[in-house]
Order: sequence, then C-alpha cells, then structure tokens
Amino acid sequence: MLGLMQHHPLLISSLIEHAASAHSKSQVVSHSTDSPTHRCTYSDINRRAKKIAGALTALGIREGDRVGSLAWNGYRHMELFFGISGMGAVLHTVNPRLFPEQIEYIVNHAEDEYLFFDIGFSSLVEKLAPTLKTVKGFIAMTDRGNLPSLKIPNLLCYEDLVANQYSNYDWPSLDENTASSLCYTSGTTGNPKGVLYTHRSTLLHAMQTCMPDSMGLSATDTLFIATPMYHVNAWGMPYACAMTGAKVVLPGAALDGESIYRSMLDEAVTVSLGVPTVWLAFQQYVKEKNLQPKQDLILNRVLIGGAAAPRVVVETFEESFGARVIHAWGMTETSPLVTLCNPLMKHHGENLEERIKLQSKQGRVQFGVSIKLTDDNGKTLEQDGKTSGHLLVRGHWIASKYYHVEGRSFLDEEDWFDTGDIATIDEDGYMQITDRAKDLIKSGGEWISSIALENAATRHPSIAEAAVIAIAHQKWQERPLMIVVAKNDCEISKQELLDYLGDKVAKWSLPDDVVFVDELPHTATGKLQKMKLREQFGNFKFHSV
Ligand code: AMP
Repeated sequence: MLGLMQHHPLLISSLIEHAASAHSKSQVVSHSTDSPTHRCTYSDINRRAKKIAGALTALGIREGDRVGSLAWNGYRHMELFFGISGMGAVLHTVNPRLFPEQIEYIVNHAEDEYLFFDIGFSSLVEKLAPTLKTVKGFIAMTDRGNLPSLKIPNLLCYEDLVANQYSNYDWPSLDENTASSLCYTSGTTGNPKGVLYTHRSTLLHAMQTCMPDSMGLSATDTLFIATPMYHVNAWGMPYACAMTGAKVVLPGAALDGESIYRSMLDEAVTVSLGVPTVWLAFQQYVKEKNLQPKQDLILNRVLIGGAAAPRVVVETFEESFGARVIHAWGMTETSPLVTLCNPLMKHHGENLEERIKLQSKQGRVQFGVSIKLTDDNGKTLEQDGKTSGHLLVRGHWIASKYYHVEGRSFLDEEDWFDTGDIATIDEDGYMQITDRAKDLIKSGGEWISSIALENAATRHPSIAEAAVIAIAHQKWQERPLMIVVAKNDCEISKQELLDYLGDKVAKWSLPDDVVFVDELPHTATGKLQKMKLREQFGNFKFHSV
C-alpha cells in the first residue's frame, strides 16, 4: 500500500523560491571588479535568476542544454546557479585555473551553448573563443558601462539580458532526477571527466549539510565562501544557504589575508570554508599584522577540506580565533561532503590537545552516504582505526558514471565507488585519510597529474624515464618532485628539462625540483613503484631550483 502524502520533486528552484519568501531580506554580499561591495537579497537573486532564465529561453536554451560559466564567486554567478539549473538547463562551472587546452577540451566535451564569463577572464575568452565549437554566444558578466571593447564573436552583456526581461518567469516543474550542474575533475590519466549532478542529489546534499552534526547552518549564520563556485559548486553552499536563509559573503578573486579579514569583520561572518592553503596564508597575515581575531571577529566555525587540515591551522583557529574547525572530506564525484569531523558526547570537556587530535581525522559519515574500507582484493576490512584500505563510498549524492564517457559504470555491483584514497576508520566511525592510491598531486586545492608531467618529460630526447611524486609543502600542501633517469651518454640539466616542460604543462604545475637517479624502482610486471619512491624521498625538502 502506498502512503497518502504529497509528492513534489526536489528542485533547485524551490530553494531560491523559499529563500525569497521566507528570508527575503537575507543578504548576499559580493566583492567584484566592477563594484567593490555589492549587496542584494535572496529576493533580488530570485528575481534576476528568473530574468536570466527568461533571457536564455529567448536565446533558444532548452531543458538539458549546457551553459558554461567562467567566473569567481559573486552574485551574478549565484544567479546563474539558480537561473540555469532552475530552468532545467545544466550549469557547467568551468575552472579558469585549468590549462587553456583543458578548458577548450571540457567546453567542447560538454557542448556548452553559451558561456558566461567574468570580465577578468576576457583575454582568456578572446583566445579560446575560436576553438569553442558549440558556443553560440559569450555573455560578459557586467554592465554596458564596464564592458571593455573585446574581440569576442557574438558578445552579449549580462545586465542587458537582465534589463530586457520581465521577472514573471515561472520555474518549470521538472523530474527531480533532471541534470542540474556539471563539474569536471582531473582524471589520473586522460582528459578531465564530468560529474553531472541532479536536482535531487543537490537538494539532499544541501539538506544534510545544514544538519547540526554537519555544518549546523541556520538563518543566524553569515557564511564567507572562499571555496570557488567552480569547485563542486562551492561545496554546495549556495544551495545550503538558500535553504536556511543564511547571509552569504562572496569574495570574488580577493582571497588575500587583508580582504578576508575585512570581510569577516565588516560582515560579521560566523562560518567560513575553504582549502588549507587559503587559511595558511590568512593566518600568516593575521600573525604578521598582530591582529586580535578573538576580540574582533565572531567567527565560530571553519570548514576545512579539499586537502588534509594542517595541525597549525586547526590550532590557530581554535586558540587565536576561538573558532571550531570542522575537518571535512569529499570529492567532486561526491557532491562533495561525505564525512565531517564533529565531536560525540564522549568528547565533551576535552582539552585543546585532544580536540586538535580529533580534528586530524576527516570525520564521520553523514546520513545519506556510506563508507567502507577494502583490501586490494575487494574484501571489506575492519574499522579499528589501525587497518588502512581503499576508501569506498556510495549514497544519494555519489556519481554513478562520468558524463559522456563510454563504457561501464565505475561502480562495483553493489554501487560502491572507489575514491582512490587510502584511509582508516575507527570504532566510532571517524575516518582518516592516510595515503592516496590515485596518481595525482594536490597543490593549493588544484590537481596536478603526475602522469601528464611524466609523459611530457619522457618526450625529451635525453630522458629515459621519469616519475613524479608529491612532496609535502608548507604553503601549497603538496608540490611535485620529478625523479628522472637520463638516457645513456646524454647530458641534461635540471633547468634545461624545466624549460622544455615550460610550454607543455600549466606553469603552476611544473615540478618544484628535479632529481637525477640511475634507475627507478619497478614491480615484477614493470610498473613504477611510487610507494617506494615516496618512502625514499619521504624527507625531501625543496630548495630553489
Ligand atoms: P576534488 O575532486 O578535486 O575535490 O578532490 C578530492 C580529493 O581531494 C579526495 O579524493 C582526496 O584525495 C582529497 N581530499 C579532499 N578532502 C581531503 C581532506 N580533508 N584530507 C585529505 N585529502 C582530502
């Protein structure tokens, strides 16, 4: 027998409709190039998102069409989050930090029909426009007065689109499994891969994020969102904030210590989130300026994820800011939040040292997703806090396939997704990442493919073999070290090799150092033994090349 309750699809448009009616005065504060501090409300966002939906409909965008964005965190980007997904089209948030060839690849792969861009990315768009085969028009996210003269075909102006529309657009009723947004992530091998979220997965993830043992968001919070909106939809925060009516601060490109501190002070920020690199630089600034955050700020929680939260960052937030760190783990494929490190009843009254120790773990799993550990043969391992194994995850907001990638789903028969991370889980369910099986390096929140670097190096006529591993780095968390074997009788210097790589990979992904060795360790089947190299170079320290 079926129950007798109403059924309404879980739709992203319902979030902004709710925010506009239940929290109409809650603010969205943005910092951008054409307007240093811009203030609007959820009502404004809803009204203008509808106008964007109307404008895109007039331009021929239909349900399922992909529309790209190349933009920082700002109110116009937030309007696209609701406008594009709300109308049933797919918002494809493009990471502007990618190598231009990768942007070209993903926009073509996604078959974006229009591309919205911040004018700060104008020269990148000018360069890329001729290569973007499916893009019918480019929309500069500014007003006429701030629009520079650009060599971009079919150039439209955002504020003109908004001005020419009525706000009486009605959000369509969609199947809740309709695709809502698309985000590409680095593949260890080959090209970036697209993760296609649904309205349902997005809403369930947002709802869980607001729970007390997650981020505990409410209408009394003000969030500083340092996580870029092109990184897994800013960890889902625009949706969660609209759900709760929390005030939002969107920093644009300004993530320097001074700008962050000023925003936290002026806007009375209670919660902030970002990758460790941002917080390391921020805390450095606070220390240098001898600021008194405990007195000045009302910052209460800081969510840290994307890479392991360094002890010093946790300690400084707890001690000097009086703010609680919530260490979290997730991936693009997991929407992203899966585990968050919040205390249990038994942790009440623990001292600072004990709290910091707990925060070195990535936390407990949230309702809606499950995790487990397996050995190399897929056998489930014990959760004793000591046994480490492959971390597998499944649930309502975990991807089942990559977008337009032929072949089988990447899940096993029971829907488990192998994350490529190695972890332990203790008796209380706290998960801790201990290593990474996937061959990638994470520098300041961005991925560097070791395989791409190795392939580029071995194209040099003097290089026989190359291996790239991650080395811990104070500022960037990890940086690549290249270990190479030169061909017999070939002379090549570090600098020559780096110069050679210079135009083959993005500049920021170049190795920080190159070490020449006589041979690299291999398995019996001839595979590089990166684990051995990681052991061998475990204490390696970078000095300038
Ligand atoms: P991305 O898909 O770019 O968000 O990267 C996801 C990956 O980042 C994970 O699979 C981990 O390797 C790493 N990661 C994310 N959060 C953490 C964390 N808190 N500690 C350690 N590694 C993390």
